[in-house]
Amino acid sequence: MRKINLILLFFVIMILSFSADITLKGMRFNGNPPQMVIDVVGNTKPKYKINYDELNRVLFVEFFNTKSLSTFKNRVINGSYVKKVEVRKYKNSTGVFIFFNRNVKYSAKYWSNPTRFVLDFNRNSREKEYTIIVDAGHGGKDPGATGFNKYHEKDFALKIAKQLKIALEKDFNVVMTRNNDTFVTLSGRPNIGNKINADFFVSVHLNANNSSKVKGVDVFYFSRKESNYAKKVAEFENSVGNKFGENVDEITLIMGQIYYSRNKEISINVAQNLVNSYSKRLGMTNRGAHGANFAVLRGFNGPGILVEVGFITNSSDLTKLKQTKYQKLAAEEIAKAIKKNFY
Ligand SMILES: [Zn+2]
Repeated sequence: MRKINLILLFFVIMILSFSADITLKGMRFNGNPPQMVIDVVGNTKPKYKINYDELNRVLFVEFFNTKSLSTFKNRVINGSYVKKVEVRKYKNSTGVFIFFNRNVKYSAKYWSNPTRFVLDFNRNSREKEYTIIVDAGHGGKDPGATGFNKYHEKDFALKIAKQLKIALEKDFNVVMTRNNDTFVTLSGRPNIGNKINADFFVSVHLNANNSSKVKGVDVFYFSRKESNYAKKVAEFENSVGNKFGENVDEITLIMGQIYYSRNKEISINVAQNLVNSYSKRLGMTNRGAHGANFAVLRGFNGPGILVEVGFITNSSDLTKLKQTKYQKLAAEEIAKAIKKNFY
């Protein structure tokens, strides 16, 4: 009998020690230094696991074998580092989802006396608030327009896009839709920007014409109304989608319409500024800013432009755009026009 009691007691102790009595009591936010504190009561340090979802900027901390008070619940913070906190209570654990603003760095530590879990926040020394998508037109199996000496549009578009990335990076986060000779679908390009909630989309192309005399720079923004000329350029750039069997889905179209009016004003502004400054700086013909129905611009939820940086079929345009010096100038002008809109 005594032996059985001892065995029972042993099991009770085992169970108690496995279901450690740890409770998340509350959460606090401090301003200086910026941190989030989760106060913990219990007889032992909780085991926890941290995961960070970079795309959605959500930090997930799961505390195992841990309960939480009923007052430990979802909170809207709207602070400079944390937007909100969501709490999920699972069977044997508590999950805490912390939604960050842009550019938040964190470090996590567990402290005793008093027992607490602390997230320290900081930022890059120079905060980059906005994200720009740089889209080098065409690529891979789609060469785009072909000009003198079989030069391909896709190659110059990529070179200038790479320079543009460098020029923009001083002030913006930059994501490229491609950074080598690969094929990206027309809907895939804006979707890269939509997924990360990017602030502006810029697509780099070279124009082409049957007449080698036609030259100069055009900048396009998305519009449902388009001139005959703008329509022709858009038809060529959009033809990739049809050629490679791509359909635009309904949701993309509907979302595009919602964002349409909000973005149009910004896009027109940047397009007009750019075509003027670009043509002056590079000594090229100013062909103006036009509204057109470009698939890459239509699919993006924010404002954007498509720059036809010059004609691949015109020798004076191409002579310039072949040179690194002019590729850099082109990139600088595009970056400047975008920056003007944000700062
Ligand atoms: Zn193109």
